[in-house]
Amino acid sequence: MNPAEPQVITIMPRSNRERRDQYESHKLVKRLRRLAGQAIADFDMIGEGDKVMACLSGGKDSYAMLDILLHLRSRAPVAFDIVAVNLDQKQPGFPEHVLPEYLTALGVPFHIENQDTYSIVKRVIPEGKTMCSLCSRLRRGVLYRVAQELGATRIALGHHRDDILQTFFLNLFYGGKLKSMPPKLVSDDGRNVVIRPLAYCEERDLEAYAELRRFPIIPCTLCGSQENLKRKEVKAMLREWEKRHPGRVESLFTGLQNVIPTHLLDRELVDFSAIRATGTPVPDGDTAFDVE
Ligand code: SF4
Repeated sequence: MNPAEPQVITIMPRSNRERRDQYESHKLVKRLRRLAGQAIADFDMIGEGDKVMACLSGGKDSYAMLDILLHLRSRAPVAFDIVAVNLDQKQPGFPEHVLPEYLTALGVPFHIENQDTYSIVKRVIPEGKTMCSLCSRLRRGVLYRVAQELGATRIALGHHRDDILQTFFLNLFYGGKLKSMPPKLVSDDGRNVVIRPLAYCEERDLEAYAELRRFPIIPCTLCGSQENLKRKEVKAMLREWEKRHPGRVESLFTGLQNVIPTHLLDRELVDFSAIRATGTPVPDGDTAFDVE
Protein backbone atom coordinates (compact mmCIF):
# COMPACT_ATOMS: atom_id res chain seq x y z
CA MET A 1 0.00 0.00 0.00
CA ASN A 2 1.22 3.48 -0.81
CA PRO A 3 2.03 5.10 2.58
CA ALA A 4 0.66 8.40 1.27
CA GLU A 5 -2.76 6.86 0.70
CA PRO A 6 -5.20 7.53 3.50
CA GLN A 7 -5.91 4.31 5.33
CA VAL A 8 -9.53 3.27 5.25
CA ILE A 9 -10.64 1.63 8.45
CA THR A 10 -13.81 -0.36 8.10
CA ILE A 11 -15.76 -0.67 11.32
CA MET A 12 -17.59 -3.94 11.19
CA PRO A 13 -21.01 -3.91 12.80
CA ARG A 14 -20.95 -6.01 15.94
CA SER A 15 -22.97 -9.18 15.72
CA ASN A 16 -25.95 -9.74 17.98
CA ARG A 17 -24.00 -12.46 19.67
CA GLU A 18 -21.08 -10.13 20.47
CA ARG A 19 -23.49 -7.56 21.79
CA ARG A 20 -25.23 -10.16 23.94
CA ASP A 21 -21.91 -11.46 25.28
CA GLN A 22 -20.81 -7.96 26.14
CA TYR A 23 -24.10 -7.28 27.88
CA GLU A 24 -23.85 -10.52 29.88
CA SER A 25 -20.24 -9.77 30.85
CA HIS A 26 -21.24 -6.32 32.02
CA LYS A 27 -24.03 -7.81 34.12
CA LEU A 28 -21.67 -10.42 35.57
CA VAL A 29 -19.09 -7.84 36.61
CA LYS A 30 -21.75 -5.63 38.17
CA ARG A 31 -23.35 -8.56 40.00
CA LEU A 32 -20.07 -9.76 41.52
CA ARG A 33 -19.08 -6.27 42.63
CA ARG A 34 -22.52 -5.65 44.08
CA LEU A 35 -22.58 -8.95 45.99
CA ALA A 36 -19.08 -8.49 47.37
CA GLY A 37 -19.89 -4.91 48.40
CA GLN A 38 -23.08 -6.16 50.04
CA ALA A 39 -21.28 -8.90 51.99
CA ILE A 40 -18.60 -6.45 53.14
CA ALA A 41 -21.28 -4.06 54.39
CA ASP A 42 -23.57 -6.71 55.92
CA PHE A 43 -20.78 -8.23 57.99
CA ASP A 44 -18.89 -5.01 58.60
CA MET A 45 -15.78 -6.57 57.14
CA ILE A 46 -13.65 -3.51 56.42
CA GLY A 47 -13.46 -0.19 58.22
CA GLU A 48 -11.59 3.10 58.01
CA GLY A 49 -7.82 2.63 58.14
CA ASP A 50 -7.86 -1.15 57.79
CA LYS A 51 -5.01 -2.88 56.05
CA VAL A 52 -6.43 -5.83 54.15
CA MET A 53 -4.11 -8.68 53.34
CA ALA A 54 -5.60 -10.32 50.24
CA CYS A 55 -4.40 -13.92 50.14
CA LEU A 56 -3.66 -14.94 46.60
CA SER A 57 -3.17 -18.61 45.75
CA GLY A 58 -3.19 -18.24 41.98
CA GLY A 59 -6.68 -19.79 41.76
CA LYS A 60 -9.66 -18.10 40.12
CA ASP A 61 -11.36 -17.15 43.39
CA SER A 62 -8.47 -15.28 44.95
CA TYR A 63 -7.69 -13.42 41.71
CA ALA A 64 -11.34 -12.37 41.52
CA MET A 65 -11.35 -11.30 45.16
CA LEU A 66 -8.32 -9.05 44.73
CA ASP A 67 -9.67 -7.59 41.51
CA ILE A 68 -13.06 -6.83 43.06
CA LEU A 69 -11.54 -5.46 46.28
CA LEU A 70 -9.37 -3.06 44.28
CA HIS A 71 -12.42 -1.83 42.42
CA LEU A 72 -14.51 -1.46 45.56
CA ARG A 73 -11.71 0.41 47.32
CA SER A 74 -11.70 3.04 44.59
CA ARG A 75 -15.35 3.80 45.43
CA ALA A 76 -15.52 2.98 49.12
CA PRO A 77 -16.68 5.60 51.61
CA VAL A 78 -13.81 4.52 53.89
CA ALA A 79 -10.07 4.55 53.18
CA PHE A 80 -8.26 1.24 53.48
CA ASP A 81 -5.08 -0.37 52.17
CA ILE A 82 -4.66 -3.61 50.32
CA VAL A 83 -1.56 -5.78 50.25
CA ALA A 84 -1.58 -8.98 48.21
CA VAL A 85 0.22 -11.96 49.70
CA ASN A 86 1.10 -15.26 48.14
CA LEU A 87 2.61 -18.17 49.98
CA ASP A 88 5.00 -20.07 47.73
CA GLN A 89 4.76 -23.54 49.27
CA LYS A 90 7.53 -24.88 47.03
CA GLN A 91 5.39 -27.33 45.17
CA PRO A 92 7.31 -28.83 42.27
CA GLY A 93 6.51 -26.97 39.07
CA PHE A 94 5.04 -23.89 40.79
CA PRO A 95 5.54 -21.06 38.29
CA GLU A 96 6.96 -18.54 40.77
CA HIS A 97 7.20 -15.69 38.24
CA VAL A 98 3.46 -15.59 37.44
CA LEU A 99 2.10 -13.80 40.51
CA PRO A 100 4.93 -11.24 40.91
CA GLU A 101 4.55 -10.31 37.24
CA TYR A 102 0.79 -10.06 37.48
CA LEU A 103 0.86 -8.00 40.68
CA THR A 104 3.60 -5.69 39.44
CA ALA A 105 1.58 -4.99 36.27
CA LEU A 106 -1.47 -4.33 38.47
CA GLY A 107 0.50 -1.88 40.58
CA VAL A 108 -0.62 -3.36 43.88
CA PRO A 109 1.79 -3.74 46.83
CA PHE A 110 2.55 -7.40 47.39
CA HIS A 111 4.61 -9.83 49.36
CA ILE A 112 5.64 -13.37 48.39
CA GLU A 113 6.32 -15.57 51.38
CA ASN A 114 8.56 -18.53 50.66
CA GLN A 115 8.02 -21.47 52.95
CA ASP A 116 8.47 -25.10 52.02
CA THR A 117 5.33 -26.59 53.54
CA TYR A 118 5.20 -29.02 50.62
CA SER A 119 8.09 -31.11 52.00
CA ILE A 120 6.47 -31.28 55.44
CA VAL A 121 3.18 -32.47 53.99
CA LYS A 122 4.92 -35.05 51.78
CA ARG A 123 6.84 -36.35 54.78
CA VAL A 124 3.85 -36.64 57.09
CA ILE A 125 1.02 -37.82 54.80
CA PRO A 126 1.22 -41.40 53.46
CA GLU A 127 1.48 -41.71 49.68
CA GLY A 128 -1.88 -41.65 47.91
CA LYS A 129 -3.76 -39.94 50.77
CA THR A 130 -5.19 -36.45 50.44
CA MET A 131 -2.77 -33.83 51.71
CA CYS A 132 -5.09 -30.83 51.53
CA SER A 133 -6.15 -30.68 55.13
CA LEU A 134 -2.62 -30.53 56.59
CA CYS A 135 -1.44 -28.33 53.72
CA SER A 136 -4.21 -25.80 54.40
CA ARG A 137 -3.53 -25.85 58.14
CA LEU A 138 0.15 -25.12 57.62
CA ARG A 139 -0.68 -22.44 55.06
CA ARG A 140 -3.07 -20.78 57.49
CA GLY A 141 -0.43 -20.68 60.22
CA VAL A 142 2.11 -19.04 57.92
CA LEU A 143 -0.41 -16.50 56.62
CA TYR A 144 -1.44 -15.54 60.16
CA ARG A 145 2.19 -14.85 61.02
CA VAL A 146 2.75 -12.86 57.83
CA ALA A 147 -0.35 -10.78 58.57
CA GLN A 148 1.17 -9.77 61.91
CA GLU A 149 4.50 -8.96 60.31
CA LEU A 150 2.86 -6.78 57.66
CA GLY A 151 0.63 -5.04 60.19
CA ALA A 152 -2.52 -6.26 58.42
CA THR A 153 -5.77 -5.82 60.30
CA ARG A 154 -7.82 -8.08 58.02
CA ILE A 155 -6.96 -11.33 56.24
CA ALA A 156 -9.15 -11.68 53.16
CA LEU A 157 -9.79 -15.17 51.76
CA GLY A 158 -11.46 -16.00 48.45
CA HIS A 159 -14.07 -18.50 49.68
CA HIS A 160 -17.43 -18.11 47.98
CA ARG A 161 -21.06 -19.08 48.55
CA ASP A 162 -20.60 -22.62 47.27
CA ASP A 163 -17.56 -23.24 49.50
CA ILE A 164 -19.68 -22.11 52.44
CA LEU A 165 -22.52 -24.49 51.54
CA GLN A 166 -20.19 -27.41 50.89
CA THR A 167 -18.52 -26.87 54.25
CA PHE A 168 -21.92 -26.77 55.91
CA PHE A 169 -22.84 -30.19 54.51
CA LEU A 170 -19.41 -31.67 55.23
CA ASN A 171 -19.81 -30.69 58.87
CA LEU A 172 -23.35 -32.02 58.93
CA PHE A 173 -22.66 -35.33 57.17
CA TYR A 174 -19.30 -36.16 58.68
CA GLY A 175 -19.05 -34.10 61.86
CA GLY A 176 -22.62 -34.04 63.21
CA LYS A 177 -22.52 -30.25 63.47
CA LEU A 178 -24.47 -27.33 62.05
CA LYS A 179 -21.41 -25.30 61.18
CA SER A 180 -19.95 -23.59 58.16
CA MET A 181 -17.43 -20.86 57.25
CA PRO A 182 -18.51 -17.47 58.58
CA PRO A 183 -17.87 -14.40 56.43
CA LYS A 184 -15.97 -12.83 59.32
CA LEU A 185 -14.27 -14.49 62.27
CA VAL A 186 -11.32 -14.37 64.62
CA SER A 187 -8.51 -16.72 63.57
CA ASP A 188 -7.48 -19.77 65.62
CA ASP A 189 -4.52 -17.86 67.07
CA GLY A 190 -6.88 -15.13 68.29
CA ARG A 191 -4.73 -12.43 66.70
CA ASN A 192 -6.29 -11.91 63.29
CA VAL A 193 -9.67 -11.08 61.80
CA VAL A 194 -10.41 -13.21 58.75
CA ILE A 195 -12.92 -11.99 56.17
CA ARG A 196 -14.55 -13.60 53.12
CA PRO A 197 -15.69 -10.82 50.81
CA LEU A 198 -16.97 -13.31 48.18
CA ALA A 199 -19.32 -15.00 50.67
CA TYR A 200 -22.39 -14.12 48.54
CA CYS A 201 -20.81 -14.88 45.15
CA GLU A 202 -21.58 -18.04 43.19
CA GLU A 203 -18.74 -20.18 41.97
CA ARG A 204 -20.02 -20.35 38.38
CA ASP A 205 -19.97 -16.53 38.25
CA LEU A 206 -16.38 -16.54 39.49
CA GLU A 207 -15.45 -19.08 36.83
CA ALA A 208 -16.93 -16.86 34.14
CA TYR A 209 -15.23 -13.80 35.64
CA ALA A 210 -11.82 -15.52 35.63
CA GLU A 211 -12.29 -16.29 31.94
CA LEU A 212 -13.45 -12.79 31.16
CA ARG A 213 -10.52 -11.17 32.97
CA ARG A 214 -8.05 -13.79 31.68
CA PHE A 215 -6.44 -14.35 35.06
CA PRO A 216 -3.16 -16.33 34.80
CA ILE A 217 -4.47 -19.27 36.81
CA ILE A 218 -2.03 -21.52 38.64
CA PRO A 219 -3.62 -24.92 39.39
CA CYS A 220 -3.62 -25.95 43.06
CA THR A 221 -3.15 -29.61 42.18
CA LEU A 222 0.43 -29.12 40.98
CA CYS A 223 1.35 -30.91 44.19
CA GLY A 224 -0.27 -34.08 42.87
CA SER A 225 -2.55 -34.44 45.90
CA GLN A 226 -5.65 -36.56 45.65
CA GLU A 227 -8.74 -34.41 45.58
CA ASN A 228 -10.78 -34.34 48.75
CA LEU A 229 -13.37 -36.91 47.72
CA LYS A 230 -15.91 -35.95 50.38
CA ARG A 231 -15.91 -32.33 49.26
CA LYS A 232 -16.17 -33.45 45.64
CA GLU A 233 -19.19 -35.61 46.48
CA VAL A 234 -20.94 -32.78 48.32
CA LYS A 235 -20.24 -30.43 45.42
CA ALA A 236 -21.76 -32.91 42.97
CA MET A 237 -24.76 -33.37 45.28
CA LEU A 238 -25.43 -29.63 45.39
CA ARG A 239 -25.05 -29.30 41.60
CA GLU A 240 -27.47 -32.17 41.06
CA TRP A 241 -30.00 -30.66 43.48
CA GLU A 242 -29.79 -27.35 41.72
CA LYS A 243 -30.31 -29.01 38.35
CA ARG A 244 -33.35 -30.95 39.51
CA HIS A 245 -34.78 -28.31 41.83
CA PRO A 246 -33.75 -24.85 40.64
CA GLY A 247 -33.65 -22.42 43.56
CA ARG A 248 -32.88 -25.05 46.18
CA VAL A 249 -29.27 -23.96 46.67
CA GLU A 250 -30.34 -20.35 47.03
CA SER A 251 -32.88 -21.42 49.64
CA LEU A 252 -30.20 -23.36 51.53
CA PHE A 253 -27.96 -20.33 51.56
CA THR A 254 -30.78 -18.11 52.74
CA GLY A 255 -31.38 -20.67 55.48
CA LEU A 256 -27.86 -20.16 56.81
CA GLN A 257 -28.79 -16.53 57.38
CA ASN A 258 -32.09 -17.35 59.10
CA VAL A 259 -31.19 -19.57 62.02
CA ILE A 260 -33.92 -20.14 64.60
CA PRO A 261 -32.13 -21.69 67.59
CA THR A 262 -35.37 -22.20 69.56
CA HIS A 263 -36.49 -24.66 66.89
CA LEU A 264 -33.39 -26.78 67.01
CA LEU A 265 -32.18 -29.07 69.80
CA ASP A 266 -29.06 -27.37 71.06
CA ARG A 267 -29.27 -27.06 74.86
CA GLU A 268 -26.26 -24.75 74.84
CA LEU A 269 -28.18 -22.20 72.81
CA VAL A 270 -31.57 -22.48 74.48
CA ASP A 271 -32.33 -22.99 78.14
CA PHE A 272 -35.20 -25.43 77.64
CA SER A 273 -35.75 -25.92 81.36
CA ALA A 274 -36.61 -22.22 81.68
CA ILE A 275 -39.44 -22.46 79.15
CA ARG A 276 -42.80 -21.46 80.66
CA ALA A 277 -46.16 -20.65 79.12
CA THR A 278 -46.43 -16.87 79.14
CA GLY A 279 -50.03 -16.51 78.05
CA THR A 280 -48.83 -14.26 75.23
CA PRO A 281 -49.26 -15.67 71.72
CA VAL A 282 -45.94 -16.31 69.95
CA PRO A 283 -46.10 -15.98 66.15
CA ASP A 284 -44.87 -19.24 64.57
CA GLY A 285 -44.34 -20.62 68.07
CA ASP A 286 -45.10 -24.22 67.18
CA THR A 287 -44.89 -24.06 63.41
CA ALA A 288 -42.32 -26.66 62.49
CA PHE A 289 -42.33 -26.06 58.75
CA ASP A 290 -43.27 -22.58 57.68
CA VAL A 291 -43.90 -23.09 53.99
CA GLU A 292 -46.23 -26.05 53.42
S1 SF4 B 1 -4.17 -29.49 46.26
FE1 SF4 B 1 -2.07 -29.53 47.03
S2 SF4 B 1 -1.49 -27.37 47.31
FE2 SF4 B 1 -3.71 -27.44 47.09
S3 SF4 B 1 -4.45 -27.55 49.20
FE3 SF4 B 1 -4.27 -29.65 48.48
S4 SF4 B 1 -2.26 -30.32 49.12
FE4 SF4 B 1 -2.28 -28.08 49.24
